[in-house]
Amino acid sequence: MMPLAQGATVCVNHPRREAIGICVRCRTRVCGECTTKVDGINYCVSCLATLAGPKRAKDVRAQSRSPIVASIWFGLGAGLLTLLSWAMIELGAIW
Ligand SMILES: [Zn+2]
Ligand SMILES: [Zn+2]
Repeated sequence: MMPLAQGATVCVNHPRREAIGICVRCRTRVCGECTTKVDGINYCVSCLATLAGPKRAKDVRAQSRSPIVASIWFGLGAGLLTLLSWAMIELGAIW
């Protein structure tokens, strides 16, 4: 159990302000003004600056590309499987 109700948790940037969230990246306690939610996850100012860097742009590009590749492989696999089963049925009918 964590004593959150004691008022011991304060913002790292504002010592007199109560922290309402914890940065998921560096576990820094931040107030509502210092935290930014990205996809429903709290980030502090410094971590947000790191995320906004070139690494995030690379991640976004990789994320947008991977589903297409996955769908192509899935389509190929499904098509091959259909063709194989069809060929087996046809051959079975002939034999
Ligand atoms: Zn952080
Ligand atoms: Zn603050």
